[in-house]
Amino acid sequence: MGTGEQVEQRKGASSRFTIWATTEQVVLVASMFWVLAANRRFLQAALHDRPLNDWHTWGFGLALVAMLVALHFVLLALLANRWTLKPLLGVLTVATVFAIHYMQRYGIYLDPSMLRNVLRTDVAEAGELLGWTLVPDLVLYGALPLLLLSRVRVVRRSWRTALGVRAASMAAALAVLVGCGLLVFQPLASLMRTQKEVRYLITPANYLWSLAAVTAQDARGAAGPRQVVGSDAALGPLARQRTRPLVVVLVVGETARAANWGLNGYARQTTPELAALDVVNFREVTACGTSTEVSLPCMFAPVGRRDYDESRIRNSESILHTLARAGVDVLWRDNQSGCKGVCDGLPSETVAALHPAGLCEDGRCLDEGLLVGLDERLRRAHGTQLLVLHQLGNHGPSYFRRYPPAFARFQPACASDDLRHCTSLEIVNAYDNALLYTDHLLASVIAKLRAASSRTDSVLLYVSDHGESLGENNLFLHGIPFAIAPRVQTRVPMVMWLSEGARATLGVDEQCLRQRASQPASHDHLAHTLLGVLDVRTRVYEPAWDLLHGCRRSSVAMAGG
Ligand SMILES: [Zn+2]
Repeated sequence: MGTGEQVEQRKGASSRFTIWATTEQVVLVASMFWVLAANRRFLQAALHDRPLNDWHTWGFGLALVAMLVALHFVLLALLANRWTLKPLLGVLTVATVFAIHYMQRYGIYLDPSMLRNVLRTDVAEAGELLGWTLVPDLVLYGALPLLLLSRVRVVRRSWRTALGVRAASMAAALAVLVGCGLLVFQPLASLMRTQKEVRYLITPANYLWSLAAVTAQDARGAAGPRQVVGSDAALGPLARQRTRPLVVVLVVGETARAANWGLNGYARQTTPELAALDVVNFREVTACGTSTEVSLPCMFAPVGRRDYDESRIRNSESILHTLARAGVDVLWRDNQSGCKGVCDGLPSETVAALHPAGLCEDGRCLDEGLLVGLDERLRRAHGTQLLVLHQLGNHGPSYFRRYPPAFARFQPACASDDLRHCTSLEIVNAYDNALLYTDHLLASVIAKLRAASSRTDSVLLYVSDHGESLGENNLFLHGIPFAIAPRVQTRVPMVMWLSEGARATLGVDEQCLRQRASQPASHDHLAHTLLGVLDVRTRVYEPAWDLLHGCRRSSVAMAGG
């Protein structure tokens, strides 16, 4: 063995463009390269709002870098050997260029659902995505490293030595990972608590993890496909005989709580624009969950909270699939973290990918981006359409990032991503300012629907996904298990508006609807109210859970189940 190594070494020395290295050395260099080249957004997000002149910031940053290098080293060292090293690094180098490019350009997080989107991208979409802007990234992060990799010759060692070195180097990397983790435990734990999603910025670990998660989900899904909801769904006579198009805009709010909603009688007017419009405000609405992950699938399931079964909901289609199958034109437009499975396989788009001018920064867009092209859509509308707008809303803890300066009305407002740096008044001010912006967004949608009302009937329905704690009982943010959650996390605002034409065709009694709105309602009503308004007939429909059912003239109301 020893002589073989010497012979190869000599050959290597004679060839000028060859780099001799051990597998561990190559893996270490690759890990360091990716951590520095591909993790800018992660480090920015992790260190955001920390003072540059504080050595704690630098210590935390260095510890994060060391941990990332160690993490990638361990992952790669598990898979790399003399034979797999080059193909493995080659594939990862190319994939990582695309990851870096799209994460920076579109501000995406490469979580399992995003990876699913990527894997579902068809050829036409991919063609649009492959722009010239990709070329510099391909050269810098792809071609150069690959050129270097092609010059590498792996040093041969006896399997005994190789095994020993591998085990020792992996142990050292794990020690660095754990050691640094303990050193910066406090800020790291707070980061993971308040901004859990930043872990999906760690590249290339993010897409490797997401790929594994998607594969595992698919393996489980293959055992039992999503259960069909309302296989009998079909458009009713009202929808079939429609002469004017009907567009229902459902705005799914984020983290808006009923307690701070101006229309609900909050001490501050946080909904001045809606208050000047003839909207119907539902005062007492209970959410289905206290987090987006729980609420979204539940809101779009006909069983809802009253017959709650999480795995059943996750393994079933959402009401959007039912509506689409019946012939409703469904589009999900997202300005947040995706639709949590409820729009899987249905037309969907993200605001970041629409590039609304002046509204996006660091991959996050203001909610007005949801309105891009809405006028045009309304002008060209036909048939029955459902447009779901998923807001970023009051997504915490950085409430101050959710609204443009014009809405910074309540002052002083907390301007830190870390709520511990702010007084409770500053936190509430920033939170309420974000509500002012949602008020403006909803009023803008109504203005657009009104402007198009000479040819298009329309309905706006707004409901938040869950509430928020703003320091009451020392609780912040949300996500407390539903059974023990405080009211501020489970009570949400809900608003409805119908155009003149929609009111007439649906036969809605305004007085009756306002009366209904003063009674308790919940997310459980959403699916059935949508079926009713869009006139989709199915045995899944339960009139008792349709908020409009009791308020429609019998001649045009749905004939029960
Ligand atoms: Zn949410």
